[in-house]
Amino acid sequence: MSKKTVSSYDLLVSPPEVVLTLLAQGINEQFKDLQDNYSILRQNKDELNSLLIPALPRLSALYMCEGKEDKAASVHSVMEMATQPVKEWGIDYFAKDDFLYREIVLIDPETLVPTLESYELAIEAGGYGEDQILERKYHNQVRELVKSARSRKDELYTAIREFIVRHPLATSREIEEWKDNLKFPRARSMLTNFYRDIPSQWTHKGLVHKCSHCDGLLKPHPDKKRYPDGICVVSQCRRKGVFPKTDEELVADDLKLLQNQLLTYWVGPGLDEIEIYDAAFKAGRDATLYPYSDACDISLEDFAVGIDAKSYSSASLLIKRLNTSIGRLVEYDRKIIAISDELNDKAGVYMNTLRLQRNSAAKNVDFMSVSSLIKSIKSGKI
Ligand SMILES: [Zn+2]
Repeated sequence: MSKKTVSSYDLLVSPPEVVLTLLAQGINEQFKDLQDNYSILRQNKDELNSLLIPALPRLSALYMCEGKEDKAASVHSVMEMATQPVKEWGIDYFAKDDFLYREIVLIDPETLVPTLESYELAIEAGGYGEDQILERKYHNQVRELVKSARSRKDELYTAIREFIVRHPLATSREIEEWKDNLKFPRARSMLTNFYRDIPSQWTHKGLVHKCSHCDGLLKPHPDKKRYPDGICVVSQCRRKGVFPKTDEELVADDLKLLQNQLLTYWVGPGLDEIEIYDAAFKAGRDATLYPYSDACDISLEDFAVGIDAKSYSSASLLIKRLNTSIGRLVEYDRKIIAISDELNDKAGVYMNTLRLQRNSAAKNVDFMSVSSLIKSIKSGKI
């Protein structure tokens, strides 16, 4: 049996650790569904939990990638396998001595209930679903990485995240210069992995169209009337409008594009964050982006004002989360949540939902749209 090199796993949609976490989440959620409905498990897309559905083909891909027989084609065999330690599933990667979760059993073989360790693996990611898991993975990676820089850790955290948010597309040279300027050699390989080559189908005959609004990539779209230059890969940018390409002549071979999860979870929300930060900086305020390794998105005069920008499409979901916790925004004298302008409807339904339903953790939070916050910062009201 040949041991596969780590690089052969690059073909997978998600790394093996993420596949296992996704499976643990699917099993835990599926168990809850079954309990609620008193039903039995059937291999049917309408009845399988939405987290379990993507976990199964990803597990199959892992077998195939190691040249093994696929044991994950049936949900029943996966459930049975889950009563055995992960290292015994016939996947080399999971059996490696240094694989952190090799001893984990996801389902108790006697009671057929998800085990406590499977629950812990499911919640450890800090969010549910593949994108959330990967997003947290990047956050944690950066935080863990900069920890060792001790007194420079907050400065490095900001420098890394700011570059990423401002450069969804970057030339290899820009990336090299960024890494040199950080003067933190340990970060080099991780930062390289945040970027990837541009898929050829996302180019316009080998040329890259850069979005004039977010600096992201405009990929070709069949509706040439609506998207003559292509459609932006950053969903929050798409919500703000259709923007033309920049005038630059950009060749795909010279450029790298951020990984999808970073485009969605860092660059997208970052559009408002950067706009607020740049306006405050221009107005001569003592502004910091992602202070103290992400205590909030932007602070003014250290702990005087803390601002978090949010772009949830559902106001109810947002206020529910904020009522549970506002995170480290709690450390600031004035706490502001800035809402993307495009969510602030004319009738004020979105803002009213937030203001009327705030309580517990969110009771001292001010809600403002990004543009009214910027106005207040410029006029010195905030
Ligand atoms: Zn864009």
